[in-house]
Amino acid sequence: MTKITTPAAPTNPLTSRHVAVIGAGAAGLVAARELVREGHGVVVFERGDQVGGTWVYNPKVESDQLGLDPRRDVVHSSLYESLQTNLPREIMGFRDFPFVAREDDKNRDPRRFPGHREVLMYLKEFAKEFGVEKLVRFETEVVYVGMVKSSDNFNKWKVRSKKRSGDEVDEIFDAVVVCVGHYTEPRVADIPGIQGWPGKQIHSHSYRIPEPFQDQVVVLIGNSASGRDISRDIVGVAKEVHVACRTTADEKIGKHPGYDNMWLHSMIKSVHKDGRVIFEDGSVVFANVILHCTGYKFHFPFLETNGIVTVDDNLVGPLYKHVFPPALAPWLSFVGLPKVIPFTIAELQSKWIAGILSNRITLPSEEDMMEDINAFYSMLEISSTPKRYAHNLLASTRFEYGDWIAVQCGCPVYEEWRKQMFFASAKRKLSHRPETYRDEWDDDHDLILQAHRDFIKYFP
Ligand code: FAD
Repeated sequence: MTKITTPAAPTNPLTSRHVAVIGAGAAGLVAARELVREGHGVVVFERGDQVGGTWVYNPKVESDQLGLDPRRDVVHSSLYESLQTNLPREIMGFRDFPFVAREDDKNRDPRRFPGHREVLMYLKEFAKEFGVEKLVRFETEVVYVGMVKSSDNFNKWKVRSKKRSGDEVDEIFDAVVVCVGHYTEPRVADIPGIQGWPGKQIHSHSYRIPEPFQDQVVVLIGNSASGRDISRDIVGVAKEVHVACRTTADEKIGKHPGYDNMWLHSMIKSVHKDGRVIFEDGSVVFANVILHCTGYKFHFPFLETNGIVTVDDNLVGPLYKHVFPPALAPWLSFVGLPKVIPFTIAELQSKWIAGILSNRITLPSEEDMMEDINAFYSMLEISSTPKRYAHNLLASTRFEYGDWIAVQCGCPVYEEWRKQMFFASAKRKLSHRPETYRDEWDDDHDLILQAHRDFIKYFP
């Protein structure tokens, strides 16, 4: 359990820094806002042509739909056309800029679990409201970030960026905040025999609409948020959908309740030249398509830290509280790595980074940060948690993590209604109601009222 302690008061005078923010998705936008609010000078680099990151839906898919070819033209977003949020809007939005329904505007989606376009509109509103958009250099990809020694021996960062025209520019910054997201570089399942299997394979990164799966026999691997959504999206058009998952309980294997053409299986054991897919539970199907809903890899191809920061089995480290590499803190930081309630976690991390860079908030010594990280790694080992789950905060610790940062920043911890609403929604989703949890939430009414009472202070 993380002990919440108030940080020591800083002794140095407040300082303004020249900061590069990489990415203009939710994390980059809120990082820029908090850095500017703290008095820093900010440049946001964005390789796309608009703000919003993941929430900019792109009907195009990559040439290699498994996402393995390093030469492919990368499509950033992994959204599918039918996507609705998996969090209710009251807890999804930034705390300082609540994501309330715009009932007065018929172009807006007032649902509590709105479609992806509504989220993009909200992020654009946020960028406009706080003047962030004018800080963004669009169609400008960061291709290199590395340390340089300046005259006073204080490490600075060289940031090389490339315009769509091909022109490259090198600039020097005091600090770099990495906000590039982590739902673009697919991870695929390792399947014995896959080289000779004649069917089609795609990763959920390249899934957009169900029509291409018309009359197909589809094996879908994974049962996390995207896997659950996509299986329901295609089941209406596919001939058969077979969901393969490592964690399917024995008693659940077989026909999926409520569906005529969907089955649950254990993991795939092997696939064969004749099109067979054999599952570990012994069942066999002849399939046309394997759809990998198997998650993503952290990927920072531009970052050169001389081995100080590495990605090992999808653990980015060493990072103090998933944000600062101790040896480079606070001059290099990462926003948005923990895979939970992303907007508010990014908001708190950004306030923390901004306050540390200005000297308003103090970080522990490098040794103390490393000690904390080593304790975290030991905890992963003792609990047999694979490294690749290090940034998936457990349900019991996700609010604790945010509260810890909030205390460091001197801002309020998470509201009680927010925690209760999160757990109520998660419970409905998990208690076999993935089809209806977005529409049936009568028991949330009191919590919604409490949320709106709180939001009033942001809309005077
Ligand atoms: P992103 O939104 O990915 O933004 C990163 C930005 O960095 C992009 O604009 C990209 O173009 C830019 N970039 C990358 N590399 C470079 C470079 N080298 N140079 C310049 N720019 C670069 N979260 C929720 O809260 N609720 C949900 O319901 C939800 N559903 C989701 C469904 C799907 C299918 C996926 C994939 C994610 C979902 N998420 C959801 C998580 C979502 O990713 C976060 O909400 C949030 O958008 C992450 O923001 P980000 O800024 O960290 O990353």
